[in-house]
Amino acid sequence: MTAPVLEVAGLCAGYGSLTAVSGVSLCVAPGEVVALFGPNGAGKTSTLLATVGVLPRNAGRVHWNGVPAPKSLHTFTRAGLAFVPEQRSTISSLSVLDNLRLGRGTVELALEYFPELADHLHRPAGLLSGGQQQILMLARALAGRPRILLVDELSMGLAPLVVERLLGVVRRAAEEDGLGVLLVEQQMRRALSVADRWYLLSHGKVAAQGDAHESGGAVLEEAYLESM
Ligand code: ATP
Repeated sequence: MTAPVLEVAGLCAGYGSLTAVSGVSLCVAPGEVVALFGPNGAGKTSTLLATVGVLPRNAGRVHWNGVPAPKSLHTFTRAGLAFVPEQRSTISSLSVLDNLRLGRGTVELALEYFPELADHLHRPAGLLSGGQQQILMLARALAGRPRILLVDELSMGLAPLVVERLLGVVRRAAEEDGLGVLLVEQQMRRALSVADRWYLLSHGKVAAQGDAHESGGAVLEEAYLESM
């Protein structure tokens, strides 16, 4: 197997006395799409936040291309991480174009991934639909040519066609650019269709893991129901 672009080992994190992430280990290889599943409150978002340095780690380590990952989101982003959080963070008063310019990449590359944004460049981002805003977020993230992309609930509240479009582009970026992707997703079937491997979190721990092509749906669904 190729050396991981992201390796998380024994990660622990929480909020005050509440432990949300309890010894999570996972890895992502270049060009690989890895899905992180789990019921509500399982610790998926907290795992991402502790990995990127937004939530302080109580224990464990995060390695990036074989070396310790930068501890703050800001430096990790400069090193090649893109993080698309659950809360869409476009600046609604700025145009689509200005939102893209705020990213680390070129507008041209963003439009290569999502040509449909070209029609909206001069509209305030706040006037876009939820799906278009999510496309803008992902376009901005990918345009920076990250080496690793962490995405939280890409599909939240979006129409199936838009979700397919977004996940399709994520898959393409992994295949064509060698991007490593860690994807938190509620819609398991959709995520499995673009993923290579999956992890299932339950109560802050990895309860099961598998290969998306081999074990796919059945193993995951059984483990999911057991983990609730
Ligand atoms: P969901 O699918 O509902 O987003 P999740 O798997 O992403 O869930 P987390 O959001 O990581 O789970 O939550 C893990 C635990 O941490 C839960 O018990 C949750 O209530 C708690 N938690 C999350 N955010 C906070 C916070 N800001 N302050 C206190 N507790 C929190």
